[in-house]
Amino acid sequence: MADVKSDIEIARAAKKKPIVEIGAKLGIPSEHLIPYGHDKAKIDAAFIAAQKGRKNGKLILVTAINPTPAGEGKTTTTVGLGDGLNRIGRKAITCIREASLGPCFGVKGGAAGGGYAQVVPMEDMNLHFTGDFHAITSAHNLLSALIDNHIYWGNEQNIDIRRIAWRRVMDMNDRALRHIVGSLGGVANGYPRETGFDITVASEVMAILCLSVDLKDLETRLGNIIIGYRRDKSPVFARDIKADGAMTVLLKDAMQPNLVQTLENNPAFVHGGPFANIAHGCNSVIATTTALKLADYVVTEAGFGADLGAEKFFDIKCRKAGLKPDAAVIVATVRAMKMNGGVKKDDLGRENIEAVNKGCANLGRHVQNVKKFGVPVVVAINHFTTDTDAEIQAVKDYVATLGAEAVLCKHWAEGSAGIEELAHKVAELAESGLAQFSPLYPDEMSLFEKIDTIAREIYHASEVTADKSVRDQLRAWEEQGYGHLPVCMAKTQYSFSTDPNLRGAPSGHVVPVREVRLSAGAGFVVVITGEIMTMPGLPKSPSSERIRLNEQGQIEGLF
Ligand code: ADP
Ligand code: MG
Repeated sequence: MADVKSDIEIARAAKKKPIVEIGAKLGIPSEHLIPYGHDKAKIDAAFIAAQKGRKNGKLILVTAINPTPAGEGKTTTTVGLGDGLNRIGRKAITCIREASLGPCFGVKGGAAGGGYAQVVPMEDMNLHFTGDFHAITSAHNLLSALIDNHIYWGNEQNIDIRRIAWRRVMDMNDRALRHIVGSLGGVANGYPRETGFDITVASEVMAILCLSVDLKDLETRLGNIIIGYRRDKSPVFARDIKADGAMTVLLKDAMQPNLVQTLENNPAFVHGGPFANIAHGCNSVIATTTALKLADYVVTEAGFGADLGAEKFFDIKCRKAGLKPDAAVIVATVRAMKMNGGVKKDDLGRENIEAVNKGCANLGRHVQNVKKFGVPVVVAINHFTTDTDAEIQAVKDYVATLGAEAVLCKHWAEGSAGIEELAHKVAELAESGLAQFSPLYPDEMSLFEKIDTIAREIYHASEVTADKSVRDQLRAWEEQGYGHLPVCMAKTQYSFSTDPNLRGAPSGHVVPVREVRLSAGAGFVVVITGEIMTMPGLPKSPSSERIRLNEQGQIEGLF
């Protein structure tokens, strides 16, 4: 295995084309590309607006089984499938999220795909990229500063300083900042109060940027952010302290999608990065809708497993943006099937058909769930070198019993040549007209019923429990006119249940709702079931210890 190259070594050897050539493939004239160096560009708002009347291409969602520590490779498969479609002569664009610095220096490594299915320049994408996260961080913190400033100068809005809902953000895993006391040091520094930091990707500003259709919409949504409450519990909005205009100015460039290329010189839009727990976890609406105007096929990824990522992609992003997905790919690995079947990580190297069969229940549940949205499904088996033929066959046989097909994919090792069969299958499904997309629940359903529907239909839970205070809060929001909003579930990604250790396909469990939060700007109600981390910490030996510049001045260690 000594000749297996790391992701960054492969990326560094890429034969990149100038970004204007990639834009030209999509019919974007160079004057509408705003270059950031030679290999990245933003697509300008005027060009995007001019595409409105054009026909949409087909939309393909890549999702997965519940993640395991073995790693599934959703992004790798999204990029590989985009390249595979281009290889078989279809015009395809890959749409993925931008990377957050926190996980990059923590445990996760890069977010640009892996092996021979990556977007480049991966170093830039995993680090500062085109500055979008900086802009989002700044817009968020401008609002934070304006809130304390408003209070300092007399608090005309009567904000109850015990009920301020807006915190501060930075793009780093820093547990020391989760809870802090601000404004210490005397009269000149304002009124001391408890606050804290979240990671930038957990900011409502990030979710708003990713759901807005244009700058006007962005400004309205920013104005609708609830920053806190008065003593009579009435909400105070960002627009009440006149923050929305300046925040929009800071986000003007960040709203424009970023164009880069894959290792095979095919176009990729890398834009937005909302957390998949406290937000909806997919690429921006503006990037996806623009891509649909410019290509025949758009392949995009949703975070975590299909119970969280795909459900929110369908029920939040597609509902809000009027998108109609034509096919879905569920990524599975033999290793993850074995882990779901009870095998420990260290024993994954040994053939174990029985465990594969047992673990397939998890995959089966996801296949059936995605079909509930009216979207046809194909399973991609992301091949690892340790997989045996018999184990792969076991997954294929199992999926066939569900009336679907599982296709073996070797894009990680071989690039597009290893994923042709899946590309043909996906194209066929997307063109078949089989898709009849509809969200799981209607807008009119009460907020609690929406939670209940997801818990029963997707998680196979027997009931949802919530304290009276939670139920009263949901009813109060319905009375204030927020009842039509979708819900954004925050649950562990490791299980269908709220217990991360319960693998496979559990049913009959109880889903306890601990807390609900209104993201009035983004336009959803966050439903928290269990611990939720909005500011991650770093592990004992973070990846950053292995990230450095080598003798040639190249970056090492970004996986
Ligand atoms: P996800 O999007 O599901 O979080 P990624 O696509 O980012 O996962 O992949 C995570 C890591 O796993 C990457 O470093 C990638 O190189 C590696 N990986 C993905 N597929 C394979 C494979 N088939 N064999 C070996 N490593 C893989
Ligand atoms: Mg990913």
